[in-house]
Amino acid sequence: MGSAGLAQAPLRQDSPDFTYDSHNNISPDDQRGSAVPVTKATQDIKEVISNPTIPRAALNIQDERQNLAASVHPAYFRGSKFDRVPYWQRIHRWEDIGEREFLSYRWNTAKDVQGKEKLYYFLKEELPEKMPDTPEYEHTRTRDAFLEDVIRGIDLAPMSIRLTPHILASINWNDPLNDPLSRQFIPKKSTFQPDHPKLELDSLHESDDSPVEGLVHRYTDKCLFLASSHCPLYCRFCTRSYAVGADTETVTKAALKPARRRWEAMLDYIAATPVIQDVVLSGGDSYSLMPQHLAIIGSRLLEIPHVRRFRVATKGLCVSPSRTLDPNDDWTEELIKLSKEARLRGKHVAMHTHFNHPNEFSWVSREAAQKLYANGVTVRNQSVLLKGVNDDIDTMKGLIRELADNNIQPYYVYAGDLVKGVEDLRTPLSTILDLETQIRGSIAGFMTPQFVVDLPGGGGKRLAASYKTYDRATGRSTFVAPAVHGKNKEGRLYEYYDPLASLPNGGESVDFAAIEHIVI
Ligand code: SF4
Repeated sequence: MGSAGLAQAPLRQDSPDFTYDSHNNISPDDQRGSAVPVTKATQDIKEVISNPTIPRAALNIQDERQNLAASVHPAYFRGSKFDRVPYWQRIHRWEDIGEREFLSYRWNTAKDVQGKEKLYYFLKEELPEKMPDTPEYEHTRTRDAFLEDVIRGIDLAPMSIRLTPHILASINWNDPLNDPLSRQFIPKKSTFQPDHPKLELDSLHESDDSPVEGLVHRYTDKCLFLASSHCPLYCRFCTRSYAVGADTETVTKAALKPARRRWEAMLDYIAATPVIQDVVLSGGDSYSLMPQHLAIIGSRLLEIPHVRRFRVATKGLCVSPSRTLDPNDDWTEELIKLSKEARLRGKHVAMHTHFNHPNEFSWVSREAAQKLYANGVTVRNQSVLLKGVNDDIDTMKGLIRELADNNIQPYYVYAGDLVKGVEDLRTPLSTILDLETQIRGSIAGFMTPQFVVDLPGGGGKRLAASYKTYDRATGRSTFVAPAVHGKNKEGRLYEYYDPLASLPNGGESVDFAAIEHIVI
């Protein structure tokens, strides 16, 4: 179903189970059961602009609609972001799915698209026979060419395929070659670029910094607790592609199974190491933990006297936000309980999530974020800078503002890690430096993210602008990390490399083997 069809056709949905989120200031009766036709939107705009008593928030919404005609985005992105429309019904197989089912986490996990074969059939149903013309992809303008490109791309990819209904419903299938969400999650052979010669599978050397399997202890007072190696969706660019998800044709994973015995060993290490005050509960994705397992690990961490705070890392709010609103799923309730329990103990529990593009938001995301905010859960966001996804100033500004408006703190923007098989998504260091220069001052300082590089070799996160040297001919930048200690780390100079495609002549004249680690 195309965007024009969605804008004009009435859409089916069940009676909503949830109270409408009043901060959008739209009457549910006006919105329930149908997308707003463009003609009605035009009337609304006139009415709102001519009536000064209508709240500013509503005016913004109408302004957004007014911009639709000139916008490159399909109408439904704006509509589904602000209005309670059943945006998933634009997917053929979900045309009859109502709100009650879509908001059920059980339904979402049953309907996700996992593996090459299921993705193939999904794409076959959804794609138009012809793609819009684009000079960049002159060989993949038909559906069959696109399908072949994807199937061959999967064979080269380090990450397996898993996509959630929310993300599938947020991609513009009329233009999947350029869609910023499709680029993040669906590999294509035509965009594949050779790996950088300095790239390693575990580029951050997490395994080297693990005193117990699945527990990374790099910074003195902080550790990373890898509880599971599963996620509700797999990102092409995952830093932890050495361990996360199922094996692929190119990578056999060092799987970190969600096992009580392994968790006990990690918790024992934390309890016996008083210098650890801060724990990141991650994976994989903490969303893949059962609610009772989240409660058990969280309670144990809160009981350790020297653990002052922990964060629960999950992309779930971005890729499957309905779970937060599902009254039959306890994951969010357990997180809220842990957050409240932590406050009573004078400790702090937060959620760290991962949005990369404004199109990842819908009204479901907004209501889910509002539920967390209303219940006192601090939510911070860590974005990855990705070529063709969010590496332009308008998109990055839009993302930061969207996060801020949803009371999600824009915490980090990472330069893409040197990860196997995804060189097409990396940008040179100069891109993140330019973005920071342009964005700083455009929004309040406390809503301005830190633009960082997670240093290959295990130096941790450093501000991108803190580089010691940057040679644009070789793409090599260097950093120091004096607070990070450990084997071979004292006085070490850490290196980051721009992608080969961004170098003069694609880096052909650079002898990377001759560029060695330097100790200062
Ligand atoms: S959600 Fe996080 S851990 Fe999972 S694939 Fe994406 S980046 Fe990797």
